[in-house]
Amino acid sequence: MATATAEPPLVVVGDARGLGRHARTDAVVRLGTGLLLWAGLLLITYWWDADGGINDLARPATGLLSIGRLTGLWSAHLLLVQVLLMSRLPALENAFGRNRLVAIHRIVGLTSFYLMVAHIVTIVGGYASARWSLVLPTTWQLVTEYGGMLLATAGTVALIMVVVTSIKAARRRLRYESWHLIHLYGYLGAGLALPHQLWTGQEFLRSRGATLYWWSLWGAAGLAVIIWRLILPIWRSVRFDLRVAAVITESADTVSVLLSGRRLDRLPVQPGQFLIVRFLSGAGWTRANPFSISAAADGQSLRITARAVGDGSARLAGLRPGVRVAFEGPYGRLSPRARTVRPVLLAGAGIGVTPLRALAEGLEYAAGEATLLYRYTGEPLFAAEFDRLAGARGLKILALPGARSGSGGVLGPVAAGHDELQVLRHWLPELVESDVYICGPQPWASGLERLVAAAGVPADRIHTEAFGW
Ligand SMILES: Cc1cc2nc3c(=O)[nH]c(=O)nc-3n(C[C@H](O)[C@H](O)[C@H](O)COP(=O)(O)OP(=O)(O)OC[C@H]3O[C@@H](n4cnc5c(N)ncnc54)[C@H](O)[C@@H]3O)c2cc1C
Repeated sequence: MATATAEPPLVVVGDARGLGRHARTDAVVRLGTGLLLWAGLLLITYWWDADGGINDLARPATGLLSIGRLTGLWSAHLLLVQVLLMSRLPALENAFGRNRLVAIHRIVGLTSFYLMVAHIVTIVGGYASARWSLVLPTTWQLVTEYGGMLLATAGTVALIMVVVTSIKAARRRLRYESWHLIHLYGYLGAGLALPHQLWTGQEFLRSRGATLYWWSLWGAAGLAVIIWRLILPIWRSVRFDLRVAAVITESADTVSVLLSGRRLDRLPVQPGQFLIVRFLSGAGWTRANPFSISAAADGQSLRITARAVGDGSARLAGLRPGVRVAFEGPYGRLSPRARTVRPVLLAGAGIGVTPLRALAEGLEYAAGEATLLYRYTGEPLFAAEFDRLAGARGLKILALPGARSGSGGVLGPVAAGHDELQVLRHWLPELVESDVYICGPQPWASGLERLVAAAGVPADRIHTEAFGW
């Protein structure tokens, strides 16, 4: 007779057959997105030229205005692309993942902003016939007499606020919630700044194709935000009716929260993904925080595990069973979807081990094919669960304890005084043939990324998610 066990069965959800299929689809989506971005820029440059853009450059009087038109068009285009990129469109989320989307968001956003500044300077300069004395009266006239310009001015102020508060030095001084709230003004900025181009810009009005193109892009960006950032999260929160089922203490500063819900087997969640959750009780219910799924979902419940670092994460310890949870997601590409080959290294530091715990359970692998590299100080999280996975599934474990050193090494005291690249190669001879999943604080994750890249792991097999912003 089989002995009953109090431990729940392990859940394997990732299917290692057809490895790389999703990775190929995602690569095509990334390529397509890049091509569309450049094709859009080329198309609007063509319309600008067809409207006399290059000819106008020949004379100083019209040259400034012409440059102003082009920079305005490029800026508007990138701003709309920016809105689309951050709309949580599933195809883009899957293809790029959060880390890459955030990096692209910064580049596209800043480029769009600098082009907007160039647009304002050159348009005002052009209308003022490049005379300093006329700059102020011309600006006043432009703002007050041209259609949509008052709105555009308000939008510009909102966008300036977003960019200024995103500069590292300013960002560090703000609470995340304040920064995030201001950042949402970017939508207001885009919404207010663009209509003046649609109403008065000659490139929009002269060609029917151009008018259609701009209105479609503007509509698509707006619709994507409404559907995927508003309607879908609300609908999923209502439909799945997530509630706190239990709060489990993992260590002095870390708790796991078990969530139950209705028909959770229908929630398309993969191990390694994260949810942005709002616990609807008491003060702080408006605050949303991202937390990774820390166990493979079994269709009945979900588990998140959080270290208390501030108000939002600290309140998890005091949650009562039954508290409703509004959520966005699941998001993230640190999942079986990204996998391309069978050997796999799961590398985590500190609380960054949470998504890797779920992957260690949910990924399909044979004994010895998966290794967990876990860098931690103090007590390791999920020690018993990892031991169980080692016993039942053949997960290899490289535990790297010890306080953070000032030397900048990523492997910790165990490798102190040694060449970390050699140490890693010695520990993991199969590394170069593996997919590498990395999660942890940004500096550590970047350091390990560089190390595994130096060991010869190609970039498309390194999948990173950092817990910073
Ligand atoms: C994709 C992702 C997955 C994560 N998974 C986990 C996890 O499984 N377990 C865990 O303990 N932590 C996780 N984190 C980190 C966790 O979100 C933050 O520690 C938490 O939000 C801190 O909020 P706070 O109010 O307690 O602290 P605060 O003092 O408000 O914030 C501390 C720092 O946390 C970050 N942060 C705060 N709120 C957010 C937010 N809404 N979005 C992004 N970053 C924020 C900022 O860097 C901030 O400086 C994850 C972060 C990300 C981005």
